[in-house]
Amino acid sequence: METVINDEVVLDEQMKELVENQRKYFNTNATLSAQFRIEQLKKLKKLLVEHEEDMHQAIYNDFSKSKYENQLVEYYPLLDEIDVAIKNVRKWMKHKSVKTNLFNFPGKSYIVPEPLGVSLVIGAWNLPYNLSLTPLIGSMVAGNTTILKPSELPVETSAIMTKIINGNFDPNYLKVVEGAIPETTALLKQRFDKIFFTGSPMVGKIVNRAAAEHLTNVTLELGGKNPSIFTKGSNLKMSVKRMIWARFVNSGQFCITADYALVHKDIKEEFLTLAVEEIEKNDFSIENDNFVQIINERNFDRVVGLIDPEKVYYGGTYDREKRIINPTIMHNVSLEDAVMQEEIFGPVLPVIEYETLDEAFEIVKSFEKPLAAYLFSSDSSIKERFLKEIPFGNGAINDCVMQISNPNIPFGGVGNSGMGRYHGKYSFECFSNFKGILDKPTSLETNLKYYGYSEKQLKVIKALG
Ligand code: NAD
Repeated sequence: METVINDEVVLDEQMKELVENQRKYFNTNATLSAQFRIEQLKKLKKLLVEHEEDMHQAIYNDFSKSKYENQLVEYYPLLDEIDVAIKNVRKWMKHKSVKTNLFNFPGKSYIVPEPLGVSLVIGAWNLPYNLSLTPLIGSMVAGNTTILKPSELPVETSAIMTKIINGNFDPNYLKVVEGAIPETTALLKQRFDKIFFTGSPMVGKIVNRAAAEHLTNVTLELGGKNPSIFTKGSNLKMSVKRMIWARFVNSGQFCITADYALVHKDIKEEFLTLAVEEIEKNDFSIENDNFVQIINERNFDRVVGLIDPEKVYYGGTYDREKRIINPTIMHNVSLEDAVMQEEIFGPVLPVIEYETLDEAFEIVKSFEKPLAAYLFSSDSSIKERFLKEIPFGNGAINDCVMQISNPNIPFGGVGNSGMGRYHGKYSFECFSNFKGILDKPTSLETNLKYYGYSEKQLKVIKALG
């Protein structure tokens, strides 16, 4: 018991010192110039390029993610994110003029972005590079110092990020802290200016509570049960093709994948037939490097526990030793089934049929607000209803997950699926404070606001706005 307390004290002290040193460095103003930010981003990109093969190997060792899939879903999007940041940082940093009302004549008004200070980024395991380094890039382009705590579950991936960053950057500017709950808990006791967390809603609440202690600005990127709705009269073949790839890529361990499918009863049989054809065409097999392992045995057992063998339409097979669950479709699923009680985060697709759109929307709204939602329909009035009536963080119409690949689309959740937005320009905004400024010359004063009020004076003030 004594040792535990001592360890805790030591960890707290270490984290305190780290944060204090970063704050001292931030206060030297070294990170403020565009030039500094660009140089550091270029350095990071160069390091990622130099270590590309090591990064592929590390994630392959962790959960058999192939080089191709790592390039597609993690590595190239990271390089793109850096390029966008470098290209736009000067523009984003500019003072933005806004109109000045007549009451403040003769003045000008503008908005000044400034970095928040010392950031903490906590990553999740399922896209370990992307979910750690994309927010890190946002923190850098906005001019902050950063402590990154990647997920501890993909061990080698976490280690290679540590090697790249801690081996090459000043720890007072960027530092990776590896570890699990004890390290994160010690970090969360410190005063940060920004905490960016990706993970489950349950841990999101822990992070938010810790942030409240210091009134720290927080972004939470969480999860939920993301619906995909298939209506009659859509191009079903293309819709199923797009959704099935998105559903099973990364073995369904993807926060914005379609968690379940709501399918109109008249097209359900065709949907199921097409879904099986697509799974087979995709060849989701680990031997051919087209599939990944479930991250660990705990998650393997959890996902397998959600499969009701009586409701399996396709698949339902698995290999615990290899940590593989083959793509599985469940049909005749009801909202009471285990698979509908939590975010699946694995390669299992429950299919629920509906009769009316109202019924489908009601089902979606019976869950917490999801991170993502998808509609497959060619009917513009249905599209409009979907956008207007269903709250969700981000989504797509006639596609699935691809919204994440466009840096011009803000990425984030709402309610139980999170708060705040990032990617591209939104990452800069996420890690910045925007100072609102009224800037006045001293040559002229209207005198309207000073004592000696009169009705006439108030009328003029009102008219000037
Ligand atoms: P998690 O919440 O278990 O862990 C996330 C991070 O929190 C890890 O770094 C972990 O070390 C740390 N952590 C875990 N328990 C903690 C505790 N008690 N105190 C302090 N820190 C703690 O999530 P996960 O299993 O890594 O990821 C899966 C979840 O993340 C899913 O819900 C998924 O939807 C969500 N997710 C969201 C996004 C997004 O962008 N919105 C992306 C990926 C995953």
